[in-house]
Amino acid sequence: MLTWLLIFTVIIGAAAYYRLPQIVWSAALGIALLIFTFSDLTGIATMVILWTIYLAVVIPLNVTNIRHKYISEPLLQFMRNSMPNISQTEQEALDAGKVWWEGELFSGDPDYSKIRDLPAPKFSIAEQAFIDGPVEELCAMLDDWKICNEDFDLPVEVWDFLKKHKFFAMIIPKKYGGLEFSALAHSSIVMKIAGRSITAAVTVMVPNSLGPGKLLLHYGTDEQKDYYLPRLSTGDEIPCFALTGPEAGSDAGAMPDTGVICKDSFDGKDDVLGIRLNWEKRYITLGPVATLLGLAFKLYDPDHLLGDEVELGITLALIKTDIPGIDIGNRHFTSNHMFMNGPNRGKDVFIPMEWIIGGVDYVGKGWTMLMNCLSDGRAISLPALSTGAGKYSARYTGAYSRIRKQFKIPIGYFEGVEEGLAQIAGQAYIMDAARLLTLTGLDTGENPSVISGVVKYQLTERMRKVINLSMDIHGGHGICMGPSNFLGRAYQGIPISITVEGANILTRTMIVFGQGALRSHPYLLKEVEAVNHPDPEQSLILFDDALFGHAGFIISNFVRAFWFGLTGAKFVSAPGKGIVKKYYKQLTRMSACFALLSDASVLILGGSLKRKEKISGRLADALSNMYMVTAVLKHFEDQGNKTSDLPLLIWACEDSLYNVQEALKGVLRNFPVPVIGKIINFVIFPLTKPYGGANDKLGHKVARLLLTPSDTRDRLTKGIYWTDKADDPMGRLEHALNLSLQAEEPERKIRDAMRIGLIKQQPIESLLEKAMELDLIDQDEADRVKSAYEATANAISVDEFTKEGWKPV
Ligand SMILES: Cc1cc2nc3c(=O)[nH]c(=O)nc-3n(C[C@H](O)[C@H](O)[C@H](O)COP(=O)(O)OP(=O)(O)OC[C@H]3O[C@@H](n4cnc5c(N)ncnc54)[C@H](O)[C@@H]3O)c2cc1C
Repeated sequence: MLTWLLIFTVIIGAAAYYRLPQIVWSAALGIALLIFTFSDLTGIATMVILWTIYLAVVIPLNVTNIRHKYISEPLLQFMRNSMPNISQTEQEALDAGKVWWEGELFSGDPDYSKIRDLPAPKFSIAEQAFIDGPVEELCAMLDDWKICNEDFDLPVEVWDFLKKHKFFAMIIPKKYGGLEFSALAHSSIVMKIAGRSITAAVTVMVPNSLGPGKLLLHYGTDEQKDYYLPRLSTGDEIPCFALTGPEAGSDAGAMPDTGVICKDSFDGKDDVLGIRLNWEKRYITLGPVATLLGLAFKLYDPDHLLGDEVELGITLALIKTDIPGIDIGNRHFTSNHMFMNGPNRGKDVFIPMEWIIGGVDYVGKGWTMLMNCLSDGRAISLPALSTGAGKYSARYTGAYSRIRKQFKIPIGYFEGVEEGLAQIAGQAYIMDAARLLTLTGLDTGENPSVISGVVKYQLTERMRKVINLSMDIHGGHGICMGPSNFLGRAYQGIPISITVEGANILTRTMIVFGQGALRSHPYLLKEVEAVNHPDPEQSLILFDDALFGHAGFIISNFVRAFWFGLTGAKFVSAPGKGIVKKYYKQLTRMSACFALLSDASVLILGGSLKRKEKISGRLADALSNMYMVTAVLKHFEDQGNKTSDLPLLIWACEDSLYNVQEALKGVLRNFPVPVIGKIINFVIFPLTKPYGGANDKLGHKVARLLLTPSDTRDRLTKGIYWTDKADDPMGRLEHALNLSLQAEEPERKIRDAMRIGLIKQQPIESLLEKAMELDLIDQDEADRVKSAYEATANAISVDEFTKEGWKPV
């Protein structure tokens, strides 16, 4: 009898695990039941009950008419009555971009070949030459202190250099005079510049991100492209894009800015059909110097000059900033960074219809246009800036921790500091991996709007973490601002990255899971579309298909999550070898758990999930951290499975899996129906919490990677501007580190002599003389100690200013 129970459990379990079609598992179960019936192991009454249950389940599932009539039709009616409406802006956001890897993570059974088959990131020859040439030159030209504290702008020669070398035209095709660079090159250029000057990086970033250039490329008429793109390429036009205003920030769709279709004189001609605009915008980057203003506004046609409709919707236009009625040029003071940013206003500004981006065909399509163009820019600029911060922190805070001594030992050797260094190194590794994977996606034709939200919010948050830790480790050296402090200004810039291109709180809690679930889930959107389908017959067929697919999907994830929980996912098939394979297995496990919990949350909360941001925020964290695991595994393999990088890979996977687990646990602890939370908790974590995060021993290994030059350190910090010049704010740290390492052996000899009382503590000159007198060190060793001492003194020094007039001393 027990054997038969086992046989039935295995059939049902295997059918669910392998997601077999219902006809297959129905047949398998029927055959098993038939054999069982003839085995005479149980009485007739039990058999009747078993067959009744079997037929009651199998017939409605496999006979379409019965299923439609008794299950799908009533449920469809219920859904029609209870489903909340999706607003037009929400629908347009949902329609924008594509579903990519996030769809696999939502599936509970990711197909890793989709990621592993992608090429490793690689620059073209022209891109590499640009990075090694003009970008390197630009970085050397940038004096951020002077820019931010003396000139309050980039110097004229930097503006000219940027225009001459077409830094503003990275996304513009060559046929319009642009550079036509890949997303990889674009990101790497921004990343490198950001470490030298955020002001310069933002200035370069904006024309290449969401703005006139991108919108023209996607939607511009031929005339608009032919006229503007070459001028944008050469920097003859400086663009900006104005969406945000005092009353419309995160909810940009609520903008009060208006355009009214009318006729007026323009450019010497009478009766020109056009738009009278009134607007007030703020925070617009490059606005104060822009010659070309991309403007979003709501368009109205009260006199029916275009047609029957009065409210035409959000529309985008390109406006020359020198026409009458525009107030532009004032600046905001943005967290002590001096990129151009300011408000602009328009009062009764008249523009011809041809200034609408894409012309009359694109009237009212502004929101869709913005949503479609937003994701790739969001996936490039701020993640690049954040990863740059991670890499600079890893390299230079590591160096500082080695050269800065307290209690006679480098501060990096103290466990407390080591904890911070491990975070910095691990986060830098994760950020770079996520950045690169996303760029590879973009460069192979993806436009993943959910992943773009993930990398924007995750990488900027991780940047916040590493810069905060770096500030703690640098202590007063980070706080005292001046020409030689490279860190303090990065710290001041954190809120900018957190806020722009979708403020992080909103991106995390509303966009990533809120829109991600609907877009990326294999069935949800299909169900919603089926419910809204205008043809009732088609609506039922589509709904039935999606509904039963969805039911099978839930059962499958339930079984898989439980099985993985019981077995620690040891038997699931996964690609790769050794540790890589192990983490792919864990990722499959978490994906199944996430898929199950996502479904439970959507089913229980329905439309109110929109308001339950604490739940959706945690689910967004789980999804994001699964993306990070995917990214680091791909990154490790792309970099050639280097054994010396293993501590970073393991740290990143342990940390991310722990984050996934804690996010899921957080949802379960706060689940709106506690008993369901408890049941799912038992299903997905049946034995214990599987992940404990990176342990101290691993943290120690990872932190040590930052304290000594090595290939791993170079790989981790690859792509940033690097110098060991003693008079450079960053170079002085690298310079001191190199000299300190050369002085380690003679320093050890002197320390040993001091310990046994052979030499006393004294000023460096006499100390070295005494050590030579005692034949502890020779002249060359003494010189090395002295050079290291001087370089260190220079590297740890902070700027001073006169009491009167704040002049640098
Ligand atoms: C330096 C800088 C440069 C900028 N450049 C440009 C530019 O070039 N062009 C342009 O058009 N705009 C630009 N912006 C505007 C930027 O996009 C907005 O600042 C941003 O959208 C947030 O709007 P807000 O500042 O008004 O904050 P608010 O919208 O008032 O938000 C305040 C807080 O509430 C949170 N929040 C709001 N709604 C929700 C919700 N539903 N759920 C959860 N949390 C929510 C936000 O996450 C945020 O933390 C720039 C801003 C800055 C600071």
